[in-house]
Amino acid sequence: MAEHLMCDLSVPGRVGFRFPESDVPAAPLPDTLLRDDLPLPELAELDVIRYFTRLSQLNHSVDTGFYPLGSCTMKYNPKVNEEAARIQGFANLHPLQPIETSQGALALMYHLQEWLNTIGGFAGTSLQPAAGAHGELTGVLIIRAYHRSRSDTKRTKILIPDSAHGTNPATSAMSGLTVVELPSDERGNINLDILREHCDETLAGLMLTNPNTLGLFDENVEEVNRLVHDAGGLIYGDGANMNALLGIIRPADVGIDVLHYNLHKTFSTPHGGGGPGSGPVSVVEKLVEFLPDPVVKIIEEADDENGIPPLYGLVTPPQTIGRVKAFQGHFGMFVRAYTYIRMHGAEGLRKVSEHAVLNANYLLAQLRDTYHIPYDRTCMHEFVAEGRWPDAPDIHALDIAKRLMDFNFHPPTNYFPLIVHEALMIEPTETESKETLDAFAKTMIKIAEEARTNPEILKSAPHSTPFGRLDEVKAAKELVLCCVPEFAR
Ligand SMILES: *Cc1c(COP(=O)(O)O)cnc(C)c1O
Repeated sequence: MAEHLMCDLSVPGRVGFRFPESDVPAAPLPDTLLRDDLPLPELAELDVIRYFTRLSQLNHSVDTGFYPLGSCTMKYNPKVNEEAARIQGFANLHPLQPIETSQGALALMYHLQEWLNTIGGFAGTSLQPAAGAHGELTGVLIIRAYHRSRSDTKRTKILIPDSAHGTNPATSAMSGLTVVELPSDERGNINLDILREHCDETLAGLMLTNPNTLGLFDENVEEVNRLVHDAGGLIYGDGANMNALLGIIRPADVGIDVLHYNLHKTFSTPHGGGGPGSGPVSVVEKLVEFLPDPVVKIIEEADDENGIPPLYGLVTPPQTIGRVKAFQGHFGMFVRAYTYIRMHGAEGLRKVSEHAVLNANYLLAQLRDTYHIPYDRTCMHEFVAEGRWPDAPDIHALDIAKRLMDFNFHPPTNYFPLIVHEALMIEPTETESKETLDAFAKTMIKIAEEARTNPEILKSAPHSTPFGRLDEVKAAKELVLCCVPEFAR
């Protein structure tokens, strides 16, 4: 173990930090805390800084290059968000502090709840869920609680289109509902005839990802929602991809009853590498009483005449599904999203979505002659191309993805959605310039040529990264999390 940690950089006796002289009497440690051997590397501060700085530069990131990872919305995160999140009063706040000393944070959460209500057309919001999938679980539990509160316990079936995000069926299964998959039609919409067959008294609801994972807006969304509502079901909206809709359509207006946002996609805030995310859930009026406990409310109105601001507090919704997360959720994400929304304002948010959709369609237009687009119509913030050609039989989406890395582009999402063979799911986001989009399109076209003229260069890519092509299964199953000697100095 010892030799793995920071490898051979360790020199006995070298230190990077010295504790100050103690100004209190030393007290003995309990025996249970003591061990004979603690094989930590001994290094100077500079060694540690260089080691980790170098490691950080081995990764591709939004700050170093284009990152068109479909469904994930890897947009640029404005640095002002980071500054706001580091304001001492926010960063050093303790979640158990009394509300009297955390009014600033509660006010921020209150306004963020209100803005998310406004953006989606909803009546109430919980900021608690820690990610999109967690928001889905929360939303589906709310749907279940609603039916139960009406003693409508037969409703255990939930419909999920095959163009939904993979987290949707997983979430529903976890919450004890029976998942029924709905096929898409040839335009990438939900097949209405098959939907009608499932609209009966066992229907709890339908989970709609719109735009779906083909990057397409379901043209029949209102009809879908009407059919489900008429049968007594509720509509869950997967709003992870609100990046396409801000200021253009409010999900509640087309019949969505409960929706999660991904703050860490639509409203910037960094993500990847596992977290921390934030997946607030918004609901229509009749579901407000089921929201997770607690929500932030004004518990004493402002007294404007005497210049006294409102008092914010934490309130338990009357029929709450309970707590879904410790304390109030990932507060640092709230600060970033709040900053982002304030910085843009209503007009700015609408422009975000207009540009996200424009950028995706601009790329689509440049690539559709070279790559087959299985569901080819005006896309939203992303589109799905096929990474294969009949006259280049050995080339797969994976080879194209790997070859892109040689040009300092992060690969698009590949092999998802499952309903497209050799899928390449491309989401440029609104923060990229025309020059970057042109360079990416040019590279994609060049790679398509190489697939015919020099397939080997694709099969053996990437060539310019610190490691060549990895065995991805092995890399995931046999994680090496300690020092790699080549990169130590
Ligand atoms: C990303 C995403 C999710 C899941 O969000 P996480 O924060 O990764 O759990 C769900 N649905 C859609 C459409 C997504 O793009």
